[in-house]
Amino acid sequence: MSLRPWRDIERRQCRQIMVGNVPVGGGAPIAVQSMTNTLTSDAQATIRQINEIADAGADIVRVSCPDKDSTEALSTIAKNSPVPIVADIHFHYKRGIEAAEAGAACLRINPGNIGSEERVKEVIKAAKDHGCSMRIGVNGGSLEKDLLEKYGEPCPEAMVESALDHAKILQDNDFHEFKISVKASDVFLTVAAYHALAEAIDCPLHLGVTEAGGLRIGSVKSAIGMGNLLWAGIGDTIRVSLSADPVEEIKAGFDILKSLNLRHRGVNVISCPSCARQGFNVIETVETLEKRLAHITTPMTLSVIGCVVNGPGEARETDIGFTGGGAGKEHGMIYLGGEVDHRIDNSELVDHLVDLVEKRAAEIQAEEAKQTVAAE
Ligand code: SF4
Repeated sequence: MSLRPWRDIERRQCRQIMVGNVPVGGGAPIAVQSMTNTLTSDAQATIRQINEIADAGADIVRVSCPDKDSTEALSTIAKNSPVPIVADIHFHYKRGIEAAEAGAACLRINPGNIGSEERVKEVIKAAKDHGCSMRIGVNGGSLEKDLLEKYGEPCPEAMVESALDHAKILQDNDFHEFKISVKASDVFLTVAAYHALAEAIDCPLHLGVTEAGGLRIGSVKSAIGMGNLLWAGIGDTIRVSLSADPVEEIKAGFDILKSLNLRHRGVNVISCPSCARQGFNVIETVETLEKRLAHITTPMTLSVIGCVVNGPGEARETDIGFTGGGAGKEHGMIYLGGEVDHRIDNSELVDHLVDLVEKRAAEIQAEEAKQTVAAE
């Protein structure tokens, strides 16, 4: 029995597959992914964007391969990428073979859409020969015609049937290194489809609410859909689909995982909305801090609260806390490890908190390094 059972999430048990050197499923940390939107044939631009996405914390990056120029560029891209690359293939089986040969760690491909049994076998052979895993990606907007006729419209049953049909082709060819997604732009459909799929098969699941929209609405929809599933223990890798910079997808993905205590990266800022009681400008301070602390990857918590109504209580639960002294006061209180530590003038607040966070991050890293050495 854990200390706070209301926070426990029991993750669905499933097989583990590898996407390059990143384990997916089987209890591995939930991997966060995004996708490039550069021309894949422009290897240099694509590598630049992959580096930006990886710097934001991505574990895996997907790259579209719509033509031969793209799969040709893929070998340079895969060689220079700091994270494993998933090649996104639609319809053309040759692109799948070329991508596997070029060093893709995973193919996003639906075996039922690539034609004859012979072609499917060739793609599977290329994946086996080059250590590629696969993702079957069912999308509510592009379901097979026969399933739409059978069910009348995209529905959870149709999406699961489509996924299982594709999976069977791989299983019949003795290929088991695959994960599945059943995305839809409708949150209800997405959630219901994943719940049903999670019961029907034991492979890892890639979560996403597809075509979720721009930065704000897309993040909200994704947090509702994926949050519901992750809370139920479903999901082994996630992508937040936004009409925005891919870096924002990674940030939103980590924010969802952080909110559910499933994975941590960087500073988790707890701050109040501010009101007439605030002892300093909370909103401006938090905005500045978020920018100045973006380089910190060590997980830690920081509370920045406008006044003593909630400040001391929040500070007790965080690594570093600041509580404003109340309206009209020019100073507030710093808490370290939950304990009152020292007073600080509001004018020095931002620099001081950045300094404290950087020092605490270095301490945590040193402690972890010591533990690793001791364990070895
Ligand atoms: S903590 Fe204080 S300043 Fe912040 S919203 Fe609550 S009452 Fe207002």
